[in-house]
Amino acid sequence: MSKNIVVAIDGYSSCGKSTLAKALAKKLNFIYIDSGAMYRAVTLYFLRNNIDLQKPEIIKEALENIHLDFQTLNNETVITLNGEDVSKEIRQMHVAEKVSLISAIKAVRVEMVRQQQRMGKSGNIVMDGRDIGTVVFPNADLKLFMTADPQIRAERRYNELISKGETVKMEEIYDNLAKRDLQDTTRKESPLIQAQDAIILDNSDINESQQLEFALGHIKL
Ligand code: C5P
Repeated sequence: MSKNIVVAIDGYSSCGKSTLAKALAKKLNFIYIDSGAMYRAVTLYFLRNNIDLQKPEIIKEALENIHLDFQTLNNETVITLNGEDVSKEIRQMHVAEKVSLISAIKAVRVEMVRQQQRMGKSGNIVMDGRDIGTVVFPNADLKLFMTADPQIRAERRYNELISKGETVKMEEIYDNLAKRDLQDTTRKESPLIQAQDAIILDNSDINESQQLEFALGHIKL
């Protein structure tokens, strides 16, 4: 049996990683996994259940009670948390504000990486996140590291949330991205860094179809 192909896309917050990952998966007929959605769903569970981050036993028990799954509903992939579709709620600001804090916890990362590696065994996949090419799939067939001008990233995220009917301020979005980037790059457990063999993709001045062409140009099937 031939080995599964893995495309790992890492990079800063709101660089369009998921847009590219989804487009690539669609074009290549690969499975798309949004690892950030998993950390966001864990964060939502922790917030809803007031999990005390100072108590390792409570965190361990919480992780045992969290069941995440990706399902396809009306052609859209949704993430479920213990059976509930939480795809919309995990994009809201109250989750964005806490996700980098919770995803810095070692026990949380160990469990998410375990689940992500298991998903990698189910077929050819495109996975996006912060540590996919460095920790989850260090032997990925293609690693992309995405970056873009912070102001452009904030504008894109602002427009996305506004189009979904959210009430948000531009300044609040910019600050959240800057704060998450800082937390994600400076944390002790698997910080966001470019894998040595990753190809940089700066999409500040290119559109979605150009970035798709760029990525496809680097895939050897
Ligand atoms: O990709 P997204 O912006 O939705 O990710 C939300 C947060 O989840 C990131 O800011 C980061 O703190 C965390 N994350 C992570 N490792 C990943 C994916 C996301 O730590 N592989």
